[in-house]
Amino acid sequence: MKETIYTIPVNDAYDSDCECPLCLLRKKAEDNEIEYYLGPSLMEPDTRIITNKTGFCPDHMAKLNKKVTNRLGLALVIHTHLLDYDKDITDDLTDAAPAKAGLIKGRSNDYKNTLRSLADRIDARTATCPVCEKMNKTIDRYNEVIMHMFSHDDAFKQKFIKAGHCLPHTASLLRTAAAKLSQNDAADFVNALSESNKAQFSELEKDVEWFTLKFDYRNKDKPWGNSKNAIQRAMRFLSTDTGEFNEG
Ligand SMILES: [Zn+2]
Ligand SMILES: [Zn+2]
Repeated sequence: MKETIYTIPVNDAYDSDCECPLCLLRKKAEDNEIEYYLGPSLMEPDTRIITNKTGFCPDHMAKLNKKVTNRLGLALVIHTHLLDYDKDITDDLTDAAPAKAGLIKGRSNDYKNTLRSLADRIDARTATCPVCEKMNKTIDRYNEVIMHMFSHDDAFKQKFIKAGHCLPHTASLLRTAAAKLSQNDAADFVNALSESNKAQFSELEKDVEWFTLKFDYRNKDKPWGNSKNAIQRAMRFLSTDTGEFNEG
């Protein structure tokens, strides 16, 4: 396969000792995009036209703020985004206030629709994010490459069988398998996925339960085993590893 730009990172992720290779690939794609938006791209008019409109989602606002490398660049982007947002909604917000009851001539429910549609517009703007958009596109591509490698590269297939995947990435793999794999390949693929999922569930259930039992004074002096970070591992499995579940 010539697309080594995707196959090499996929192989690296499945070679590394991690809880979910797709979480690792997602994190790398996210870091790349954040670096990109804090780098010289900030001063490129094409990028600014986009970020003036979109800003960033709450999660990526927080991550951009943590990267203190380019404070001026971040301030410039936030400033022009504020101007764009202000121009878009402030007048509509002023106009959305209904007339007081008794003075109104139109149907009394009209103002409710106005309030709801303005709220929808604000929510849509909050959720729109070029980092998410590009990262999701990259992850979609990785999912397709994983499908291709699973059915054409036996060495990779063996790595896949041994790997674990968090539940959100299990869902993305299932969706891509439905779109890309033949029925026979899908049979092998889903069997491998379900075996590792079963093992992850039972290990995490056991470890989190032992974590809770350690609070019983009778177990106080018994060894922790693998349970010390069981809550974080379980949360990463349930929700993807966003880098927020530090164990320190
Ligand atoms: Zn994952
Ligand atoms: Zn985002």
